[in-house]
Amino acid sequence: MAGLVASNLVAGRTCGTCTACCVLFPIDQPDLVKPAGVACQHLAGGGCGLYPAWPKVCGEWFCGWRRLPRLGDEWRPDRSGIVVVFDAEGVPADYPERPALKFILTGPDQVLYTQAFLGYVAGLVDARVPALLAIPGPVGTFGAKSFLNRRIEPAVARRDVGEMIRVVAETLAILRGGAFEAVAFTHGAPPTG
Ligand code: SF4
Ligand code: SF4
Repeated sequence: MAGLVASNLVAGRTCGTCTACCVLFPIDQPDLVKPAGVACQHLAGGGCGLYPAWPKVCGEWFCGWRRLPRLGDEWRPDRSGIVVVFDAEGVPADYPERPALKFILTGPDQVLYTQAFLGYVAGLVDARVPALLAIPGPVGTFGAKSFLNRRIEPAVARRDVGEMIRVVAETLAILRGGAFEAVAFTHGAPPTG
């Protein structure tokens, strides 16, 4: 799975107008504290108001779309409604590959019922590459995630698209019915608005 953890960015690929990660994630760094699920206080005019003197983490972290050539342009998070990230946790022990690809839904549910998403996940399942489906939590909380391979394997094996959609929808319902852990900060309180 070396290709999936390559640290190099895809040549010629830029974030463009996407700012998904500047909204989605909590940040708890010496030079930036922001809550989960709200736009960073430095977002301005559709981009980072601090760039190029932005916080260290912002120059070092990139989503899976910036790193994986096999994800085409339609997978840019503001187009796809899905933020792809690497995640080494939440994978059962009998799936030796790490990290998993985590698909965080930021758009409407329907983006998960497309050929683009289901076909990509089917390829991962066939290759026993772990896949996690995740949703953001309410503002100020961590999101929730679920290991998808085991649930969806039988449907993928039959190439039963209808059943794959049912499994994804069921997984979303389970995630939404769970608890969400509040984010605690160690570098000061995040701005409230
Ligand atoms: S989510 Fe990815 S493409 Fe969008 S701004 Fe962040 S790193 Fe760039
Ligand atoms: S400082 Fe800039 S790049 Fe970093 S999260 Fe805020 S807006 Fe995004």
